[in-house]
Amino acid sequence: MAVQNTIKVAARRREATQGFWERAYIFEVIRGLWITTKHFVSNLYYHILKLFGIIKTHPLTPTIQYPEEHRLLAPRLRTLHRLARREDGSPRCVACMMCETVCPALCIKIVAEEVENPYIEKRPQSFDIDIGRCVFCGFCVEACPEDAIRMDTGILEIASYSRAGMVLDIDTLLALRPTAMRTDKEVDELQKQLLE
Ligand code: SF4
Ligand code: SF4
Repeated sequence: MAVQNTIKVAARRREATQGFWERAYIFEVIRGLWITTKHFVSNLYYHILKLFGIIKTHPLTPTIQYPEEHRLLAPRLRTLHRLARREDGSPRCVACMMCETVCPALCIKIVAEEVENPYIEKRPQSFDIDIGRCVFCGFCVEACPEDAIRMDTGILEIASYSRAGMVLDIDTLLALRPTAMRTDKEVDELQKQLLE
């Protein structure tokens, strides 16, 4: 509830700081179209220069031939969630409900059960995340005292034919693995190679 109140206050503040031209909306639409057109024309110009060999590298936005080519991801990018395991293979999660409580989209549902281990006391019997509602804010990762939920799978292509298909259960979340993380410097170097 506290998080939702904070979001409402932030939205009200933003409304209060908007000037007449922003509130009129249509001028912002025209400005957006102008920016898009400007980038389109300048990119087209540089692509033609490169095509005729007048320039060797492209100084502006490259065209990435998705899905054959994928854009390089920054190491800190928040991607699909996963649940981490302990060394013995059991979930690190202790079902404290911190992530479920802090989630602004209310898309985490945990059912806890007791365990005999006095150091853990609880574990999740079920742990569902409705990715269709998730806003990828990362609050759940920040709130977790056990470092049990992470957003480092490198998976961004998430789709389903049904809403139910977007709900990931505990087995799916535990089966996901982290992507090979690169440093910022490595990403910059690979990005430069891609632009050549
Ligand atoms: S990243 Fe998604 S699941 Fe995690 S707190 Fe934000 S909205 Fe909720
Ligand atoms: S905050 Fe971490 S330990 Fe607590 S329920 Fe969520 S994933 Fe589990």
